[in-house]
Formats: sequence, structure tokens, C-alpha cells
Amino acid sequence: MNKDGHVLNGALLAVGLGLILSVDPTSGPIVGGQSGEITADAVLTLGSDVAGSIAALSLPVILGALFPDVDTAFGRHRKTLHNLPVLGIFLVFPYFFGNLQFVWIGVATHYVLDIVGSKRGIALWYPLSSSEYGFPTGVTTSSDWATRVTVAVTALELFVLFLVHNYLVALDTPLSEATTLLGALVGI
Ligand SMILES: [Zn+2]
Repeated sequence: MNKDGHVLNGALLAVGLGLILSVDPTSGPIVGGQSGEITADAVLTLGSDVAGSIAALSLPVILGALFPDVDTAFGRHRKTLHNLPVLGIFLVFPYFFGNLQFVWIGVATHYVLDIVGSKRGIALWYPLSSSEYGFPTGVTTSSDWATRVTVAVTALELFVLFLVHNYLVALDTPLSEATTLLGALVGI
């Protein structure tokens, strides 16, 4: 996918994730006052929650979505910064240094878009292997379909993230809790 596609994907993802993180459909009515009725206050609170999480997510996710293509300038494009070890670094970085949360989501979505939406795949296991993996669903980056494919892939990603966040593990789990969780998992 080209730069436009990755920015669009990152921006849409930040907006969608902002909604997912601030709305909990499993705990009853989405907007409601104390007795369940819709009040101006409840709408305002929800609105500012959503706006707050979109603001908090947009920069890290868009930056992450742009990062892998830095390897067009050095190393080998679609290999050096398009692999699972690099994604792993972004995943664990926040636990060690307390910053760069959510950047991994941008990096991961870049990979997904390159694999599913673009004709040429990426070298997921680089530097262990240089083989590039891609789905036959991909279109060339100059195709008229590129934007439509980007939007469709983003919608699919948001659906998966919605399920993960609400039924598996909260994506905004505080780092301290996540570290404990990680420790418990590793300890098993
Ligand atoms: Zn790329």
C-alpha cells in the first residue's frame, strides 16, 4: 500500500478504536443517566470520552502506521522494518520504558494492509527468511481499488479489535496491570 493508504488506514483506525475504547456495549445502554434515560449530561460525557480517546490514539497509531515504510530509505523495503521481530519490539517497548503505547497497533495495521491489500507481500520472518508473504486479495498500490480495499481492511480490523477489546483483553489495560498479567502468563 502507498503512503496515502497507510495514513487513511491509521486515521480511520484511531477514530474507530477511540469509539471502541470508550463505549462498552456489554454494560447495558451505551448512553444513559443513572436511571437509564438519555440525558444531555450523559451524551456530553460520552462525547468527551470518545473525543479524548481519539485524540490520545491518533498520533501514536498514525506514526506507527507510517513507520515500517522508513525502510524505503535504508535496508531492504518490505523486509527490514516489515517483520514480526520489529512488531515484537513495539509490543514490549511500553512495558520497559513506559511510553510508545499504541504505536504497535499502527505497525501491525501497516503489515496487515501490506499483506491483505497489496499485491506484493512482506517478509514477516526477516532477517531469518527473506520470503515475502501476501494474500492473493491484494491490488497494486496504483489500482483504482486501493482506497476501497484500504477502507474494507480497516473495517475488518476494527471488528477484530472490537471483539478482542470486549471479550479477550482490554486494549487500554494499564501498563502496571498488563505487566502483572504478562508475568502470570509467563509464570504458567
Ligand atoms: Zn509497507
